Amino acid sequence: MRQKRPLAKILPQPVPKAVTKRVTILGATGSIGSSTADLLRRDPARFAVEAVTAHRDAVALARLARELGARFAAVADPAAYAALKSELSGSGIEAAAGPQALIEAAQRPAEWVMAAITGAASLAPTLAAAERGAAVALANKECLVCAGALFMRRAAAAGASVLPVDSEHNAIFQALGSGRREDVRRVVLTASGGPFRTWTLDAIRNVTVEQALKHPTWSMGPKITIDSATLMNKGLELIEAHHLFGLPPDMLDVVVHPQSIVHGLVEFQDGSVIAQLGAPDMRIPISHCLAWPVRMGTPAARLNLAQVSTLSFEAPDLVRFPALAIARRALATGGAAPTILNAANEVAVREFVERRLGFSGIAALVEATLEGMERRGGMTEPQTVDEALAIDHSARRLASDLLPEIAAMAS
Ligand code: NAD
Ligand code: MG
Repeated sequence: MRQKRPLAKILPQPVPKAVTKRVTILGATGSIGSSTADLLRRDPARFAVEAVTAHRDAVALARLARELGARFAAVADPAAYAALKSELSGSGIEAAAGPQALIEAAQRPAEWVMAAITGAASLAPTLAAAERGAAVALANKECLVCAGALFMRRAAAAGASVLPVDSEHNAIFQALGSGRREDVRRVVLTASGGPFRTWTLDAIRNVTVEQALKHPTWSMGPKITIDSATLMNKGLELIEAHHLFGLPPDMLDVVVHPQSIVHGLVEFQDGSVIAQLGAPDMRIPISHCLAWPVRMGTPAARLNLAQVSTLSFEAPDLVRFPALAIARRALATGGAAPTILNAANEVAVREFVERRLGFSGIAALVEATLEGMERRGGMTEPQTVDEALAIDHSARRLASDLLPEIAAMAS
């Protein structure tokens, strides 16, 4: 005779009441913003959207705000205000514009804020979210390169969780969970190597904007795609890792891994190396931050190692990709050097995309700006946002002044 099962076990367990998470997306119309919106759309009962922001694309922002049911939408560019207001008319969604409106978006009551604005322009709004103690999912790395120490200090003082979205840092964040911090020996960021990984130095000199905008493994916004082609992205990421994880530069390493399957590794003192693997799809690290500390499903491709077949690794070539060496030096120098590096690189990438500077000129302009600023003696680490932005502005001005000379030399 079959035994009767105890009733308690076959009764459905009480399902915990779903708690809705209120979220804001800064930089909602971009690549990371769209991937975040895609995850939110798939689980509308679990998330409610407070605010969304964009640079100046009012039509795309309004469409997204309506679709996600946001309460507030802001464009950075005041000239786009009228278009945003008209696109949102009748929706009940508040429209706003200008730098203060981005800060307001960040300050509105969302417990989770995606920081996905490109560049140092992200600093003030991202800091505004951190300073009210929100969980900040940090995709933007430039704000940590521009003002990392002060950002992390203020976030800690406010009790904010800074959750790394950048795939390498998210991988390291996950791997760090498997041991004690004092047992960590080394942290390794992987780099795809970009589209010119196998090109000769001569060929790299004549790279076109179109070639540099074609990333072999990731689909991303234009600034980070160019940074990935010069390997400056990996340099910025070393500085990002230094601040996020509080690790000294000599514990941070880079290895080139063209398949972009292993995203980051942590070596512990016993020789164990813990890595995170996954398809190159930003919805995986974004979801990790969105559901943290639990996990959620994603539509990302499942990893099939038999199909991938080969995972290869090589050392980065600092001769063909000098930007990585320049960034490493800026990290070691400290003070204002990373702030200057970031500002000069933002100018250099813009000038390259606008075809006023050759590809090799990007690293050359960044290096010349760092040297020029050093000669002027403005190398003290910024203690406030205003100080960071003042250094950022002088570095941008110097980079623009140096541009004709560097462009002529590097062409
Ligand atoms: P993107 O260019 O696709 O999108 C940028 C977003 O920021 C857009 O919504 C744009 O309207 C807004 N924006 C741009 N300039 C602005 C300004 N001056 N003021 C206000 N808003 C502005 O960029 P992305 O690829 O989504 O990258 C966003 C950030 O995330 C970058 O810092 C990048 O380094 C980082 N990141 C991106 C990826 C990726 O896969 N795309 C991966 C890791 C890290
Ligand atoms: Mg990355």
